Parts: sequence; C-alpha cells; structure tokens
Amino acid sequence: MKKNLVVADLLTHGSHDWNQARVELIFPEVAHLILQIKPSSLNAEDAFCWQRARNGIYSVKTGYYAALDSTDHPTIASPAPDNFTWNRHVWDINTSEKLKLFLWKLCRGALALGANLQQRGMALQAVCPHCNATESALHLFFTCPFAQQVWRLAPFATPVDWLDINTPHQALIRATSLLNLPPTGLTSDLVSWILWGIWKARNLLSFEHKATTAPAVMTSAISGAREWSMAQQTNLPRTSTTRYMERPPTLPTVRLTCNSDAAWRKETNNAGLGWVIIGSQDGLIYEGQGHARFVSSPLMAEALAVKGMLLAASHLTTTNFLMQQIPESLVARMLNLWALDLHSNQLKTFPNSIGCLSKLKVLNVSGNNLQYLPKNYRRLQIAGRAERQFQPTDHASGHDRVRANEYDEALSSYSVGLLISLVELDVSYNGITVLPDSIACLRLIQKLSVEGNPLVSPPFEVVEQGLESVKQYMSEKMTVL
Ligand SMILES: [Zn+2]
Repeated sequence: MKKNLVVADLLTHGSHDWNQARVELIFPEVAHLILQIKPSSLNAEDAFCWQRARNGIYSVKTGYYAALDSTDHPTIASPAPDNFTWNRHVWDINTSEKLKLFLWKLCRGALALGANLQQRGMALQAVCPHCNATESALHLFFTCPFAQQVWRLAPFATPVDWLDINTPHQALIRATSLLNLPPTGLTSDLVSWILWGIWKARNLLSFEHKATTAPAVMTSAISGAREWSMAQQTNLPRTSTTRYMERPPTLPTVRLTCNSDAAWRKETNNAGLGWVIIGSQDGLIYEGQGHARFVSSPLMAEALAVKGMLLAASHLTTTNFLMQQIPESLVARMLNLWALDLHSNQLKTFPNSIGCLSKLKVLNVSGNNLQYLPKNYRRLQIAGRAERQFQPTDHASGHDRVRANEYDEALSSYSVGLLISLVELDVSYNGITVLPDSIACLRLIQKLSVEGNPLVSPPFEVVEQGLESVKQYMSEKMTVL
C-alpha cells in the first residue's frame, strides 16, 4: 500500500467509479460504506452537507433533533392502527391544507393539549376548559360532554358516536365512511371542519374566556367547509385574458419526453433503475435500464435512475429533452441550487418541496403545462418539526413509497413563498389561473413574468400595473384568509 494514498487511488483509472476490488482489499471493514458513496460523473468537487438543515449547514438545533432521534424516547402520540394510512386518512381527504396539517398534529400528539404538554413537563394545568377532566385529545375532541353535544348536531346520514374509539386515528378512519346529509350539499370532509371548530372553541375559552355554543361550532364548521368547497371549483369566470394567450412560446423542434423510476431493496442495498425516453418527432421509444449496488436509500435509487436517464438523453441529442415531472424527493437534495431553468419542458406539476431551495435566485418554468404553483400554508413554525418527524430513516422495502409520500407531504409547507432568495420568477406560457398568495412573501423579487397564462387571480388589471401591485394584491389576499 502506498504511504500517501488518496481517494483517487481507489477509483478505477479513467472512470468515475470505485475500484471495488481495491476498496475491499484496503478497507475490508468499511468497503460497503465507501461503495455507497457515488462519485460525481462530471468531476464536481466534493463538499460537506448536513442533511438535516435546509441550507446544508450544521446547526445546534438540528443537531439536537438528530440526537433525539438517535436515542429511544417515549412518543406522546398513540401508535397508528394497522388500517390507518396517512395518505388515505389525512393527506388525501377533501379538505383544506390547513386542516390536514391540524389532523396530522392531532394524530401525532403535537397539539398543545394539557396532557401532551404535561408529558413534556410544560403544563401547569392539564384540564379540559369545558369540564375540568384531564385534557387529552380523545377527551377534548370526542368524549367531552361539550364535544358530544357538537357531534350530535352533525348532519351525517347516521348519528356518529365516538365512545368506543381509543385513538384519534380510529376517528379519522371512521370519518371516511360518514355521509353528509343533504341539503348541506357538502363535498368537503366535514369531520375535519368540526374537529377544527372544537379546537377553536377550546382556545377561545382557554385564552380569552369566551364560551362558544355547540350549535355555533357546528354552524361555523359547515359554513367553513362550504366556503372552502366553493373556492375549489375551477370554472372561475375567465375575463379578457385570451388576448394574452396569442403568442405561443417558441419551442425547439427536437423534443424528448423522459420518465424514470427505481426500485430498491433494503436487505441487499440493490436498486433496479429504469427510464423511458420518447421522441415527439419520430415517435421512437428509447428504453433504458440499469442496476446499482451499494445504494443506501430509495431516494438515492431514484436519483440514480434520473441520472441514468439524463445521461441517456444527453447521448440521444444534445439539443433538448423534456421532463414531465421532477421527483419531489430530489428537490430536497438540491439545496444549494441558485438557478433552475426548466423552460419549454412538459412539466404538469411542480414539487411542493421547491420551497426548500432557499438559495434559489432564478426560477424559470415558462412554456410548460403547469396548472398551478405550489401553495404556501404559512406553516413555517412547524417546518422543523415536520422535517424531524419525517426523516425517512427507517425504510422497509415495501413501505418506502408510502413513507416517501408522507415526507413529501410534510415538505409541502415549503413552497413558492419560501423561496426567500428569489429575484427572478418566470412562469409565463403555462395554464395557471391562480398565483399562490405567498408570492407576496418574496421580498427580493425584481422580475415576475406571468404573461400567457389564463390568470384570474391576480386579475390582469393588477398585473398590468406592475410587480408592486401584484405583491400588494397578494398580501391583501393573504391577510383576508
Ligand atoms: Zn371536557
């Protein structure tokens, strides 16, 4: 062995890959860990990155959370039953994002309830403000006499009774089978709105000593659900916007459409990769596949699939290729990006987690098929906790997709409004009708291009008056909500 061995000596000469035999010979104990590190194909420089912080730089706070995660500590939340899935019973239900987050906190034991606070050693008094019983989630929302009064008023096809449930999860499972009676005409998930109403009534009583009646809670729940449902209807009036649609974006003639996916096995750390590239001109389909060993996580597997696809596409043509989607999980791995140019692709959606890119200065997604941009839910204060709860550390092969989705959902708190460094945003020539209000939060923005969209909000009268008017309009909308 050479005395001054460097990392390059462990790479196969002339390639960008490890010399596996040499690595295993020199470092038999840690070879599997070394091989999990994927060297750059493009000679990019190595850098340290602390994955727990959005900016990649270590902080004591995130270190503290990491330490907490690595030790056994009792969780306050009751475990979710087997037939409970976060997507089906929380994230995918038909209700506002604010309420989904609230339900998530409820199930996670993260609401500032007396019992929860006491377990954290914070509460002075842990009693229900309505009846002085111990204030647990189960009590406050379901079994408290006040809560029971509220639920009795709920316009469900069959009366709902929660006395036999043991965890909030069970209530959410049952909620999916409840039917709203006409004439309420509600399509939204009413249970979430009622729970929210009970929570608001509790806070009003605890902190402002104002009592709310059960009928008032139910009325505001129903009207909240109805208002929200109406706001979701997409057939909004389209005014004189068509004149802005006349000029289509100029697109290159050679177009490729690319998709990729990966499968990963925890037991073996092997990954299968696959991609399909479709040429729009010749209609030819290029398929590619590969496998990788020493892959540390499903995220890494997906990233390798995208990498394989990009390399294949770059061999097919150097002019252009079109992406249909950006894997949500990848955004969280591009934290130091400062410019992202995806114009003239075929993006239909945009990852919610885009807001992680706190260093991004320039974002260009013009000439895609976007219908909307990720919204901001003003969840900054819980972002750290969500990140901690959802660090995808304990992947089991069958469940990693589900868990990855949960992670994505938690990340949806970071959205356009959190791109705090953004100076230029170009979303022109898409199908966007409503810009997210959180654009008002972009303090540094100097250039906003929105032409060529069927915009309803902000209306064109506002857009025509320039950026400041748009921001003013958006911030007024934010405060009304
Ligand atoms: Zn009570």
